Amino acid sequence: MSNVLVLVDHTAGVVRKTTAELLTIARRLGEPVAVFIGDGVQDALPALGQYGATKVIALTNPELSQYLVAPKAEALQQVAAKIEPSAILISSNAEGKEIAARLAVKLESGLITDAVDVQADGSSPVTTQSVFAGNFTVKSKITKGIAIITVKPNAATPEAAETSPEVEEFDVTISDAAKTARITDSKPRAATGRPELTEAAIIVSGGRGTGGDFAPVEAFADSLGAAVGASRAAVDSGWYPHAYQVGQTGKTVSPQLYVAAGISGAIQHRAGMQTSKTIVAINKDNEAPIFELVDFGVVGDLHKVLPAATEEVTKR
Ligand code: FAD
Repeated sequence: MSNVLVLVDHTAGVVRKTTAELLTIARRLGEPVAVFIGDGVQDALPALGQYGATKVIALTNPELSQYLVAPKAEALQQVAAKIEPSAILISSNAEGKEIAARLAVKLESGLITDAVDVQADGSSPVTTQSVFAGNFTVKSKITKGIAIITVKPNAATPEAAETSPEVEEFDVTISDAAKTARITDSKPRAATGRPELTEAAIIVSGGRGTGGDFAPVEAFADSLGAAVGASRAAVDSGWYPHAYQVGQTGKTVSPQLYVAAGISGAIQHRAGMQTSKTIVAINKDNEAPIFELVDFGVVGDLHKVLPAATEEVTKR
């Protein structure tokens, strides 16, 4: 079986759920080999073994964390030269996509970004993506070089497959050309206690219909253990930070359940959420375009519907 590299997405050894999803996908394609960059590999091992990593390649060169993405792409190029993988899977976040693009240039390989599904299909995997603001779903294959694919969160349900991976330290050489943008200070964003928007299984989003009061949206989200999102109208009004905007110029999400409260369903908002598995809308206008898209719709005032729903969920 061929090796499939998975770039581990983690914070100080705490592995994100997206990595479990990538390892699950990698097992469909071959032998998953995890590439861990930075400190904390021992803390990450149980999670990597739980989802079937057969080997963990640890890159601890401090320069990998001191500079922006270019050194990571160089390091992955060197790992790929040694391991000769048939595919490289990377999380579809801003950093992951930049690493993937730089790596594709270095390896002279094809690149597919934002896959929502990846399946084995002969020598190169077949991927599914949603394109042109979500108007088309396409299946694609890489025909040149190593298949480099960035995969969106929630593209697969993590399936456990216990292994005891060995850790191999791997020395990489970083060129001066890659050390152009140095990180001088990094502060973690203030913790909300809620899941990260792009990884959350459930998202409750608020729009202009909240009138600026996100308390009922947040309370309902908390009752479900969900993340909070917002439409651009809410963000532009200064009611919620831009980091939580869903849509064409915000985040693209694909949770199991997306609840849109007081959001009309403009095409630019849909572009960021229409691949959600189940969509529920609460809107006082029964002709709001969002209702064309939903699995369940509630016509009503969100300030009444959300507190009632929160109370019901909290009782259970
Ligand atoms: P509105 O369209 O004003 O809708 C508010 C809805 O709330 C209405 O349907 C109304 O019936 C309902 N409502 C009002 N009061 C209540 C109540 N009490 N209870 C229940 N329902 C109520 N938008 C995004 O969201 N994300 C993007 O990334 C994005 N990118 C864009 C990029 C470009 C280039 C452009 C041009 C636009 C972009 N937009 C984006 C803006 C988009 O076109 C819409 O303007 C925006 O999505 C509207 O937000 P909204 O649905 O909250 O507000």
